[in-house]
Amino acid sequence: MLGKSPAWQDAGGACSGYLVEDADTCVLIDCGSGVFSKLRRFRDYVDVDAIVITHMHADHFLDVIPFACALTYAPRQQPVPVDRWPGTDTPARPRLLVPSGAVETLRTIASAGGQPALLDQAFAMTEYDAAAPLAIGALDVRFQPVPHFLPSNAIQVRSDDVPARRFTFGGDHGPTDALVGFADASDLLILEATLPRPEREGPRGHLTPGEAGEHAARCHAARLVLTHISDELDWDWAVAEARRSYDGPVEVAREGAVYEV
Ligand SMILES: [Zn+2]
Ligand SMILES: [Zn+2]
Repeated sequence: MLGKSPAWQDAGGACSGYLVEDADTCVLIDCGSGVFSKLRRFRDYVDVDAIVITHMHADHFLDVIPFACALTYAPRQQPVPVDRWPGTDTPARPRLLVPSGAVETLRTIASAGGQPALLDQAFAMTEYDAAAPLAIGALDVRFQPVPHFLPSNAIQVRSDDVPARRFTFGGDHGPTDALVGFADASDLLILEATLPRPEREGPRGHLTPGEAGEHAARCHAARLVLTHISDELDWDWAVAEARRSYDGPVEVAREGAVYEV
């Protein structure tokens, strides 16, 4: 767990960022504001095989820009010796997997910063098909579109090494039946719990902690972690709300927390 803040960071925290690993593969799900700094506390960024973005809100993707700058400008990524780094003919170039239409959005952002090729050069950037499973090393990644203010996807990851075990992250979403079949019997379910109370008007785009608990119960999840919740809310209250309908283990996500699936 690298970051769990909603659209504005907790004090000292980061927005959405989750590292999923098996023995050979390292995938970063979401790369929101502040996540690149947190990634560097726990892993070497050149060891990330792929970044998968759930949806194109800034709190879920904006740190692909500093990540790309590291891959482009870091001394260790250069072809010639720099400082203590010997030079490399094979600089790291992780896959960057983004929702449909997002490549153009990212190129526009890079261009606005005067570096139109930044992201294409730093990453192997492609749009994923949310209807199709994706293989990243031995990890099998699946998507489920969920209702939000723009197209958003829940993500499920399984490892070929333990195919019966599954981890599901809901992304950002309002109440939805779509998650229930998709996330059924997840060993670890990470759901957003953004709201102190449901939106007062307009379409639903987020959950309360109580609604996250209801979804976890309907998914028969073995374990629930609440995320995308501000440090300006009471986490004990959030856990208690989730427990009203879900009787499995519940906790609020914390930076550096590790969950074995
Ligand atoms: Zn968000
Ligand atoms: Zn969002």
